[in-house]
Amino acid sequence: MKINADLHTHTIFSHGKGTIEENVLQAIKLGLKKISITDHGSGHLFYGVKRQDWAKMRAEVDRLKIKYPEIEIDLGVEANIISMDGTIDVKKEEEKFFDVINVGYHYGVGIKKISDFFGFYILNLLAKGFPALRKRARDINTAALVSAMDRYKINMITHPGAKVPVDMDKIAKKAEQRKVILEINSHHLHLTEADLKKAMKYKVRFAVNSDAHQVNHIGLVDEGLKIAEKAGVDPGKIVNVEKS
Ligand SMILES: [Zn+2]
Ligand SMILES: [Zn+2]
Repeated sequence: MKINADLHTHTIFSHGKGTIEENVLQAIKLGLKKISITDHGSGHLFYGVKRQDWAKMRAEVDRLKIKYPEIEIDLGVEANIISMDGTIDVKKEEEKFFDVINVGYHYGVGIKKISDFFGFYILNLLAKGFPALRKRARDINTAALVSAMDRYKINMITHPGAKVPVDMDKIAKKAEQRKVILEINSHHLHLTEADLKKAMKYKVRFAVNSDAHQVNHIGLVDEGLKIAEKAGVDPGKIVNVEKS
């Protein structure tokens, strides 16, 4: 298998090293047909894109689309879940900037309410040391992601199961219903092979991405492809591999 698009890359607008144009040029060099620029949602306290920068990024992507017609360029976002009710850190009025909205769990996000701080961060951190709390944490994480998929038009869940535990059956079932792509992330190595096998029971599509934070990591997806191959996923179910 070989990818023809990298749907998850970061730039200097969050904590990547390359500019949008440098990412695009690298994707062209690799012969990719498409690249998505997917920096961190503004709710991330350390890496989030400054809210005033989204318009700048949109203008830059629009400029590059004209300059490099040989490649498709999407402006996306890797939004964060900021509440147990599934709220994400993309404001309604910001949705117009994005071709796609992706969502993933990250630590270091400014949460909506104090109860979310305990429900998410404290519980998930404690769950690492106290297995008895793991199920409760997993249920809360899963419910939040499921309601995010119901509440927003989400394109892809990034690295499902990384950072915090989730119930993959419930995530995949909702992803099938809402036509959300589940990512096989070559950097975080999630979906794992075991989770991918669970998700494959549903009519859900996958994408194998680099999650590149520097230009020369774009298109590096060998580890993700290995997971897909080991799990025996049908290449026809992966949106960004070459169909041969
Ligand atoms: Zn991420
Ligand atoms: Zn990322």
